Formats: sequence, structure tokens, C-alpha cells
Amino acid sequence: MFQPSPWRADFPAIAALQRQQQTYLDSAATTQKPQALLDAIAHYYSHGAANVHRAQHLPGAMATQAFEGSREKIAQWLNAPSPSQIIFTHGATSALNLLAYGLENEFRPGDEIAISALEHHANLLPWQQLAQRRGVKLVILPLTAGGMIDLDSAAALIGPRTRLLAVSQLSNVLGTWQPLDSLLAMARAQDALTVVDGAQGVVHGRHDVQQLDCDFYVFSSHKLYGPDGLGALYGSCRGLGRLQHWQFGGEMVHTADYHVASFHPAPLGFEAGTPPIASVIGLSASLDYLGGLDTKAVLAHEAALHRQLLRGLHDREGVRVVGDPQAALASFTVDGVHNADLAHLLTDQGIAVRAGHHCAMPLLKRLGLQGAIRVSLALYNDSDDLQRFFEALDKALEMLR
Ligand code: PLP
Repeated sequence: MFQPSPWRADFPAIAALQRQQQTYLDSAATTQKPQALLDAIAHYYSHGAANVHRAQHLPGAMATQAFEGSREKIAQWLNAPSPSQIIFTHGATSALNLLAYGLENEFRPGDEIAISALEHHANLLPWQQLAQRRGVKLVILPLTAGGMIDLDSAAALIGPRTRLLAVSQLSNVLGTWQPLDSLLAMARAQDALTVVDGAQGVVHGRHDVQQLDCDFYVFSSHKLYGPDGLGALYGSCRGLGRLQHWQFGGEMVHTADYHVASFHPAPLGFEAGTPPIASVIGLSASLDYLGGLDTKAVLAHEAALHRQLLRGLHDREGVRVVGDPQAALASFTVDGVHNADLAHLLTDQGIAVRAGHHCAMPLLKRLGLQGAIRVSLALYNDSDDLQRFFEALDKALEMLR
């Protein structure tokens, strides 16, 4: 049965891609943008750009108001207690690097950082490098066969030496929601800091950082229908209180002399230099747009498409879905077919999907895979997109087998 997307027309790029015979199924990498975002950025640039916080003049005041308004909106989106707990970064990756440098003094040799076996490189490498710098042990929490962090193993591995736990909310390879409540409770019981990589999770449904009770939550704007070059870091009061300044320059300074300086607290103290102002204003417009949608209807639409995707993959001989995806995406391999060859033939037919290691090389290695094809969905996709994907897949497999 045809499953239309009532929101498709709000995304001009989808129609543009369709005119180029492109079917976009790579939204876990980045999403297309609503018209509301394009309008907000055009308005900002066509009505007078100005730097934020520093200027006395009217354009500066207007830009600062829009910029700080966006911070407030993000705080509301995540149900953070205060906008001052939202730090703008350049993406989830830069937020995680900020944490790995800003928390460096928390660690002594022999301490442990726990992450899971499914983490994106962005939530692995900053901790791996910190561990090397400080003589800290990086503990890898294993997974169940379905692709969830295994809670029994986690209970055995998270202990008094654990100083920090950093885990994804929704896996970008496996499409599995992680059991954050239990995991974070284990870390809290050891008084360890907790970091949630919400880069994929934040896109699907609404999430409440107070309910999660994490110390830090990071996400990228461009995956949440916002502009690129922008991310956000939420910090609890406890977490922010432990964070050391790590990048220095304009905006973040309270007082400066040649040999000494003092710095603002969060958020400005962690936003050195001119921030991506237009992107911040654009994200605000995207959140307004998303906030005006019926979240339940969006989730139901995505779930129906996800079921169609899984059904179609499971129905095809030799196609193996990786893990047991619960939402938003599915990765798969095909017996006897190299994923790069298959990806090539899909690309030739205008199907935009991802192939490779999905920035999670250790996970793919652990699964014994050289790569996988990932199909990922967004609210603007409809069942015709999947139909076109499956037709292209069948044709490609016919050629390859
Ligand atoms: N974490 C996860 C789970 C991701 O999927 C990604 C991007 O794919 C990132 C972190 C990094 O996000 P960005 O490249 O926007 O910094």
C-alpha cells in the first residue's frame, strides 16, 4: 500500500533530487532541509548579518537575539533546565572532542573509560586518544546478537575504576536503540560521568535530557534537518562544573592581559571565536518547523517505512540484515556480492544509499564484515522511494549473480 509523506513538499531538495532521478535514502548521513530553514537563513543574510554578543548596534542586537533565541529553543527541545547548559559546537564530533579535552584532568593512570563496541568513530577516537594521553584504560562493552549493548557484560565491566561512560543512543549502523536507562544507572552508581551520543537518536522522536539523567548529550544540527557546521552539547550542572576550557580566543574571555586571562563560564566560555551564526538561526527555524508537526504521526510514518524496508530485505534471498534494526535505518550485505559493487550499481540507478564501514570500522571488523550497505529514512521519504530502491536492488543483484 502506498505510504505517502505529508511533509515531502516542505523539502524543496527532494523534488529537485527527483528531477535528477535521485532517490535519497541516506538521511542518517545528513538530512535534506525544510523551506523554513532556507527562508530563515536568506532572511538573516538579506536583512543584515552581524556578529553576536560584541556589537552595540542594531544588527548586532538582532543577530544576538536570534542566536540566543535558538539556544533557548534547543534547551526546550531537549528539556534542558536552562539555555546556559547548551553549548554550540561545530557538530557532534567537535562536541565529543571538546569533552575529551575539557575533561582530561578528571583522569588518572589506571582509571577506565567505558564505551561500547558499536560506537561511531566520533565517540571512539576522542576517548581512545584521551586514554593514550592519560594512561587510562578504554573498556569496550560488548553487544548482544541483535546489536544492543549487553547489560550483563556492562554490569560486570562498569566498576569503581570507571570514571566515564560514553555511548550512542541509536546506532548509526545497526539502527538499535540502546538501553540507556540501565547503562547510565550503572555508571551513576560508580559516580562516573555519562555522555550520550545523540547524533542519530535526536532525529527520531523527542528526548528529555533530564529524564535521561546524563551529564552530557551531543548532537549535530545537519542530521536534525538543520544546517551543517553546527552541533550542540548539553551539560548537566555537575558535568559543566567539571569541564575545563580548551579552545581560547574571542567571545569566551572575561578579562585578558598579556600573561593572564579569565574566562566566561558555560556556554560562552566554550564558544571561542565567531560561531556559525547563520546555521544557529537556521537550526532554530528547523526546530520551529519540526515542533509544528505531529511527532506521533512522524514516528508512525517512519515506523511504517522501516517495516516495509525490513520486510523487503528479509524477503530477498541471500540478503542479510545486520543485527536487528529497530528504527530509521537498516544495514545489509548480500551473500557472494561485494558491497562496493552493489553500491556502484545502485548509484548508477539513482539510489543514494551508503556503503562501507559507516565510520564504525571496529564494529564492522567485530561482525566479520568488510562493509555493508545502509538504507536510512527520514520523514520526507515515502513508500515509492523504497519501491524504487528494491527495483534497483533486484536489477543489480541480477547483474551481479
Ligand atoms: N555519532 C553518530 C552515531 C553518528 O552517526 C555521527 C555521524 O554520522 C556522528 C556521531 C558524528 O556526527 P558529525 O559528523 O556531524 O560530527
